Amino acid sequence: MNASIHRTQNPDANENRQLPPVFASAHPQTEVQQQLLQLAAGAVFSRAEWTALLRQRQPADSEFLFPLSEALRQAHYGINVYIRGLIEFTNDCKGDCLYCGIRRSNHSAKRYRLTKQQILDCCLAGYKLGFRTFVLQGGENPAADESLTRLVLQIKQRFPDCALTLSAGERPEAVYRRWFEAGADRYLLRHETADPDHYAMLHPPQQTWQRRMACLHSLKDIGYQVGCGFMVGSPGQTDEHLAADLAFLQEFRPHMVGIGPFIPHKDTPLRSYPAGTLELTLFLLGTIRLLLPQVLLPATTALGTIHPQGRELGIRAGANVIMPNLSPADVRGNYMLYDNKLHTGCEAAEHLNDLRRRLNAIGCDIAVCRGDSLM
Ligand code: SAH
Repeated sequence: MNASIHRTQNPDANENRQLPPVFASAHPQTEVQQQLLQLAAGAVFSRAEWTALLRQRQPADSEFLFPLSEALRQAHYGINVYIRGLIEFTNDCKGDCLYCGIRRSNHSAKRYRLTKQQILDCCLAGYKLGFRTFVLQGGENPAADESLTRLVLQIKQRFPDCALTLSAGERPEAVYRRWFEAGADRYLLRHETADPDHYAMLHPPQQTWQRRMACLHSLKDIGYQVGCGFMVGSPGQTDEHLAADLAFLQEFRPHMVGIGPFIPHKDTPLRSYPAGTLELTLFLLGTIRLLLPQVLLPATTALGTIHPQGRELGIRAGANVIMPNLSPADVRGNYMLYDNKLHTGCEAAEHLNDLRRRLNAIGCDIAVCRGDSLM
């Protein structure tokens, strides 16, 4: 890469770019490694530069990256890994995303919706285990908007020291606003891909990239801590698309970024595409930590699904959030976004002690707190 290119600095370059000592002693051997150091120092890359970074990366570049991204996570978050209790409250969905196992057109999915009492019971069980953030995730069903408002009010009343995250897809701005005013703190809505043509390959014509982006901007304007993100290795994804995703993250500056490998689901049109890889997912996690040092970055269930040590490897690459499943055991098997989705073992909230042991083994610990974004 041309070192003489004039570089724009990230807006937070001054306040947040206190790099840990390991950066000063790093000796870059490749262009990719040089680029990673520039990124950590606050450089803003063009699409072409992002593409080159992704295209030229080699295993040695990941080995160079992970100690840096891990040190940066430690510098901002210490040994803390934040846990979020994930309550998959319904798989009833009007959306028809071509990759997703709970899409409307999948008639083999057994549909369910948890009652208000079931959801409050999940929160109570989670609270006793040490969760101070609950994530209500579910399909899109506009008919349930107002019952969700009442539920948000009740959860915040019963658990005032907890943060509440919603992840329920695209809604009108007025609905997002009502949920926020009722007390919801955060919202997760992955942008899925920053490239409009690629978005159109993954969604039916009535679901547009423009609407997805408008939703994300509304959420931020309203005042939510916002999470966006994308699948790694989604069908048709190229390095240029990923470059657009990284450029979008740099510009949008979300509080959270959820990424995980695409995994095919047998009852969807994209069933025969290969899953995204561990290698690329980890490289992107590390890169995102350098790009947005204070971002909340989950090691996702999908990452744990493609590799038995996926989540620990994700943490070691720079992730700092894990979202164990708090849903009632009998519905977990029905929230199948993709084949073989994990919902037992360390993925299950009841097995927090196993998770704690695995985190301790890599120098981390579970933090019992809301775990708000520092951004
Ligand atoms: N309806 C909500 C939440 C459920 S889907 C929403 O749209 O936000 C949550 C996320 O799961 C999606 O954003 C998508 O990125 C991911 N997902 C869906 N199907 C997947 C698959 N086959 N492989 C990997 N991730 C998938």
